[in-house]
Amino acid sequence: MPTGLDDHIRDMLAQIEADGLYKRERLIAGPQGGTIRVSDGRGTREAINLCANNYLGLANHPEIVAAARDGMEAYGFGMASVRFICGTQTLHRQLERQIAEYLGMADAILFAACFDANAGVFEPLLGAEDAIISDSLNHASIIDGIRLCKAKRYRFANGDMDALEDQLKAADADGARFRLVATDGVFSMDGHVAKLPEICDLAERYGATVMVDDCHATGHLGKAGRGTPSLTGVEGRVGIITGTLGKTLGGGMGGFVAASQPVIDLLRQRARPYLFSNSLAPPVAAGAIKAIEIARGADDLRATLADHSRYFRDRMTAAGFELIPGRTPIIPVMVHDARRAQELAAALDARGVFVAGFFYPVVPKSAARIRTQMSAALSRAEIDRAIDAFTDAGRALGII
Ligand SMILES: *Cc1c(COP(=O)(O)O)cnc(C)c1O
Repeated sequence: MPTGLDDHIRDMLAQIEADGLYKRERLIAGPQGGTIRVSDGRGTREAINLCANNYLGLANHPEIVAAARDGMEAYGFGMASVRFICGTQTLHRQLERQIAEYLGMADAILFAACFDANAGVFEPLLGAEDAIISDSLNHASIIDGIRLCKAKRYRFANGDMDALEDQLKAADADGARFRLVATDGVFSMDGHVAKLPEICDLAERYGATVMVDDCHATGHLGKAGRGTPSLTGVEGRVGIITGTLGKTLGGGMGGFVAASQPVIDLLRQRARPYLFSNSLAPPVAAGAIKAIEIARGADDLRATLADHSRYFRDRMTAAGFELIPGRTPIIPVMVHDARRAQELAAALDARGVFVAGFFYPVVPKSAARIRTQMSAALSRAEIDRAIDAFTDAGRALGII
């Protein structure tokens, strides 16, 4: 029965296309890595990959693949249950204990993804009498999680500590019972690190709990990869850490919350994405356990990643590109105009370099960019080839 809904949606899609904002998924015909095989329908070709969250290069690590295979043989393919009915294997508790111990927290709870962890973490912990103070650049899943929670919402401009203090004062003046400051550890579009020492100082002054989403840091930043609390020297002062198993820690899937025992215990009782969604698949849990074990000891890979990041930043700056400065492996190459960002991405694609252009609404208008990400899976020769391709394409398009 035609209701007109499909026609209406077709119009919306046409508008997205007309605005130059339509996202097309390119196909990869093989595993994730420093180089990938790109499929274009006629065949496949190799490309250097500069846009994966595969910071330590663990996404196709042979020991992790083997651990996942062994896990599947010993524990089966799927659980066909949520955790509290019959979906908790020894593997799941082992992984939770390992995450908690790694991050120096009392306990941890797994979710299907960090998107679910962030969607589920706020609502059980805080009520209408409470306040959540959120950085304006926080990840979409934090924004959604806060929307699902009855606590009063306060927002501060990214990294603006005076604005944060104003909002803490406002929450106080409004009589908030508990206050929680929520921030990304690394802001993924710009690649900069949250000012955690200042945030913790303010939070302590105003009696607030700090929650850090460390998806773009756990495993590769800080001592032993313990993330931004370690990198910025505030370990032990962050009350709640959320993170993903879908980036540095093997790149499979799954998310978690690590926090105090009462927080984790209450989330097991009340977090809706935990209660009403399937358990992590055994091979995924087994692979993640191995990934964390490898990441903890991977000072060599972290050193390679940091070297690559410095080298790429230096040479791209010398070539005349405008980068956003920072100390993470997220290195945005600013183009400003959305169409030119897409042209540069296409020119790089033609030169065997796989990148993604980011433009409005993901970043502000006139802040379009190519967001590059370094990986320990890349060789220096591959990075050199990528820089040459950038230089060649940038000159051809008049960007440098
Ligand atoms: C990637 C990311 C998420 C989502 O993680 P998934 O496990 O992929 O759902 C949440 N927050 C931040 C900051 C992220 O970068």
